[in-house]
Amino acid sequence: MNIVCVAAHQDDIEVCCLGTLLKYRQRGEVSITNVVISNGDKGFQHHPSTPYEEVTRVRNAEATKVAEALGGRYICMGQSDEYIRDTDEARNQLVDILREAKADVVFTLPPIDYNTDHMTTSQITFHATMLSNVATIFTDHDPLPETPVVFYMSAIASLEWQPTHYVDITDVWEQKCDLVRLHASQMSNSETMNGLDLVKLAKIQDAHRGLQCRVEYAEAFKPALAWPRVRAGNWLP
Ligand SMILES: [Zn+2]
Repeated sequence: MNIVCVAAHQDDIEVCCLGTLLKYRQRGEVSITNVVISNGDKGFQHHPSTPYEEVTRVRNAEATKVAEALGGRYICMGQSDEYIRDTDEARNQLVDILREAKADVVFTLPPIDYNTDHMTTSQITFHATMLSNVATIFTDHDPLPETPVVFYMSAIASLEWQPTHYVDITDVWEQKCDLVRLHASQMSNSETMNGLDLVKLAKIQDAHRGLQCRVEYAEAFKPALAWPRVRAGNWLP
C-alpha cells in the first residue's frame, strides 16, 4: 500500500496522523510519503528574529528526520508559510507527487480548520487526488489507474469537526512521542503559541479521541465522501 500524507506545515502530520503511520509500518510493506506544501518559514514564534531561510532549513531537516524514522520520505512544495494558495502550479505539483508515489491512500487536513493554510491544503489535495487519474492532465509521471482513497485528519481541538473512523494507537503512543520530539523547534514554538508543547498537545487530542472509541490513545479520521475517492474495504490500519 502506498500512503501519501499532505499537510500545510512541518508538524501537522506528526500531531494528527503519526501514530496511524506507525501502525501501517507495523503491518508490513507500505511506502510512506509526507508532503508539506509550505516552507514553514513563519514557525519560529519562540525566536522571531531567526531569518526565514534558516527557519525553513531547520524545519525541513526535522521533517526529514521524522519521515526517515518512519522508513518514508519527505517532500516540501515550498510555498510561503501562512500564504498558501491554490494555484494551477500547486495542483499539478501535487498531482505529479501522487502519481510518482503511486498513491493508494491519501491523508490530508480537514476542509474546515483553524488556519487557512490548512483549509487551502485540504482543497488542493481534494482536487489533486481526482486529477491524478485524469489522462488529459500532463505531468512528469503517468496518470494513476484509480483515484486514491482520501481521509481527512483531525482538526486540532476540533471545535466543529467530528470524526467517523478511529485508529487505536495505544501500543505505538511512546514511539509517536519520540518522533514528535524530533521537531525540536516546534516543541518550543508550540509552547510559546499555545502554552503546550507538541507532545502535550498530541496527548490531549489523542486521549480525547481514545475516550470517544474506548481505548487509551487514538487518532481519528473522516473519509472524503466524494466520488470517486471512496472505495470498498478497510483502508485504515
Ligand atoms: Zn499547521
